[in-house]
Amino acid sequence: MKTSFENGIVVTLGQNNQVIWKGAVVVEGENIVGIGPATELRKRFPEAESIDCSGKVVLPGFICTHHHFYSTMARGMAIPGEPASNFVEILERLWWKVDRALLEEDITLSAQIPLIECIRNGTTTVIDHHASPGMPDGSLDLIETAVRQAGIRASLCYEVSDRNVMGDGIAENERFIRKIGKGDGQIAALMGLHASFTLSDKTLETCVGIAQDAGVGCHVHVAEDRADEEDSRDKYGMPVVHRLNKFGASGPKSLFIHCVHIDEEEMDLIAATGTGVVHNPESNMNNAVGVTPLFKLLQRNILVGLGSDGMSSDMLSQMRAAYLLHRLANRDPRVAFLEAPKLLLENNPEIAERQFGVRPGEIAEGRPADLAIMDYQPPTALNETNFLGHLIFGLVDATVDTTVCKGKILMQGKKLLSMDEERIAARSRERAPQMWQRLASL
Ligand SMILES: [Zn+2]
Repeated sequence: MKTSFENGIVVTLGQNNQVIWKGAVVVEGENIVGIGPATELRKRFPEAESIDCSGKVVLPGFICTHHHFYSTMARGMAIPGEPASNFVEILERLWWKVDRALLEEDITLSAQIPLIECIRNGTTTVIDHHASPGMPDGSLDLIETAVRQAGIRASLCYEVSDRNVMGDGIAENERFIRKIGKGDGQIAALMGLHASFTLSDKTLETCVGIAQDAGVGCHVHVAEDRADEEDSRDKYGMPVVHRLNKFGASGPKSLFIHCVHIDEEEMDLIAATGTGVVHNPESNMNNAVGVTPLFKLLQRNILVGLGSDGMSSDMLSQMRAAYLLHRLANRDPRVAFLEAPKLLLENNPEIAERQFGVRPGEIAEGRPADLAIMDYQPPTALNETNFLGHLIFGLVDATVDTTVCKGKILMQGKKLLSMDEERIAARSRERAPQMWQRLASL
């Protein structure tokens, strides 16, 4: 069966971005089989079922290359005691309690809610970083089940660290990596590591060994705060990136998250090893940790993607945060107009391809049928040359009407088809007080 999403403004993205007014995208199975003017495609695929997209822009689904589904139930929670005054206190007082307080059903609900928000925001591929030291075993299976029910793509890992119990999460991460194997294009696995400052040499060596055996990369926070750099230099006599590289944690399949406080030599080493970096501008501003040296990374041709770090599942808002942050930080209104969209629209698809073996992020024949269809009536001409202006100042505030992933319609007319949002949110509100109570006693 073929479905034709027609009469919208199709923006293909990819190297040869085309904007096709009254265009059509024809989908069969999990892939795109036709793209072009709607009148032509109607003749080519007369049997295709038609879905009218007039008044809408049809884009490839968005990709988030660093998320934390488990952070969901912290929303609206009061944190006892004095406000955290630095990054390590934020971890100790908030996140390292949130993750410990999660039990079985909380893990599922904590994933389902951001998955709903992904679909609502047209985000069809996510790379997640999970922690639940109160119940590590089987936690990634619970998330996998939620992801498959939602219908999007996700790469999963467990955040190994020595902060609670030495090597917490190694067994769960290894089991899941072996279970997923090469993956099916929908679920992938990485070796998750918290950060250098909570990982002993022994744990790092074990984890990287497992990752290398299985041919997967490592997904690790790097120099998010100055404390991570200082810890590595003080304890191990070398910068964080050099320490991780010494154990073999770098490479094209690995993701170094944040890289706010790395120096020029560390940047050179990331470039030399082909390691990916993920920038999370909203999170960095929220934690007041500093500004990633984005342009220095890009000048070295480092593959820098864009993540939300659990702040949101709306990737256009993350793109705009990157755009605004780097203009202000550089006090230069000439920068970031090209770079912020590049992270989301060019680099995230490249990172996704390295993880999933399929390349979303472009509407082209043979590519995955992952689409975000947004309500948008352009107030001025919209074409290939001025698309980024519409993206940063218009589409960023537009509402997603229809989301498609692997050829399946997950939301249509703003109605979720794969998940019961009302029931899931109600159940989460029921569970949250007990979870908050457990957390307060930690
Ligand atoms: Zn993170």
